[in-house]
Amino acid sequence: MERLDAFMARANAAYYATHDPFRDFTTAPEITQVFGEILGLWAAVTWEAMGRPSPVLLAECGPGRGTLMADARRAIARVAPAFHAALRLHLVESSPRLRSIQASLLPGATWHDTLASFPPGPLLLIANEFLDALPIRQFVRRGAGWSERHVTDGAFVERPATGPDRPAADGDIVERNEPALALVATLARRLAAEQGAALFLDYGPAESAPGDSLQAIRAGAPADPLAESGSADLTAHVDFAALAQAAIHAGAAVHGPIPQGLFLSRLGLFQRSGQLARTQPPARAATLMQAAQRLAEPTRMGRLFKVLCVCHPSLPTPAGFQP
Ligand code: SAH
Repeated sequence: MERLDAFMARANAAYYATHDPFRDFTTAPEITQVFGEILGLWAAVTWEAMGRPSPVLLAECGPGRGTLMADARRAIARVAPAFHAALRLHLVESSPRLRSIQASLLPGATWHDTLASFPPGPLLLIANEFLDALPIRQFVRRGAGWSERHVTDGAFVERPATGPDRPAADGDIVERNEPALALVATLARRLAAEQGAALFLDYGPAESAPGDSLQAIRAGAPADPLAESGSADLTAHVDFAALAQAAIHAGAAVHGPIPQGLFLSRLGLFQRSGQLARTQPPARAATLMQAAQRLAEPTRMGRLFKVLCVCHPSLPTPAGFQP
């Protein structure tokens, strides 16, 4: 018997070490190059607001194929050469397989297992669909107390546990992503002391809400999260409100979460897609515009996906977060 978070950590480590996740699901940077370009230019504008420190760490957690950062770096090189010259690329990635794929697209980067080995200094960090892959615990309200979900032989079993300190109805499931909370708290302590900003893009509700959001994708389709451990990608909704609270508690400033569609539209998703489309054959032009709509439309990725910025308290409201 294993606690759910231990099961999920093991299952995902095995999955990312042995599978090409992008055969099973797609992510925003794989849908359009404009996603990474916009985030690269967001980093460039934020770097200006930080007072153009040089050198500056440009970091990403869980870069997948490296597509987002390759698109970002290309846009930065073209539009913000001074930032391009100042930036040092640092990547947090646990999968050796994905590290080698990232290395071919991102020469000159340095890889880390966690944020702890980052060198000191001003920092800009991006994490897209990273926190949702970190292991969660699930507590179930039972009478006046709580039990916690464990996994044994492909099924859940509950054990009495000290649960969250919040009211809940009998049978409610409350999730807690401890590694995400720890990562955001560590980052927030750093950003309370040193210039910088971190941008988290992921899916989850704006307000904490009870519910079981654990899901598995196996061979491109929803699957039983507990069956065939290591053959499916396990994710859960990100509790942005809890992360924001952890960041504020650690002394950083927080902006958002706001819907991804709003953030990307404010930063020129449709203008840039239209500009690219004009030079392309009709089929490719249509694909570019459809990709922009997929990322921004509320019924698709525009509303469930949110953007949260954690930054140094002296930084002006970052681009995309001004009302
Ligand atoms: N950001 C990418 C990939 C998302 S998939 C994109 O948007 O396409 C999740 C990524 O996080 C993968 O690169 C995976 O290997 C990495 N990852 C998952 N758990 C991790 C952990 N505990 N430590 C470091 N990297 C992890």
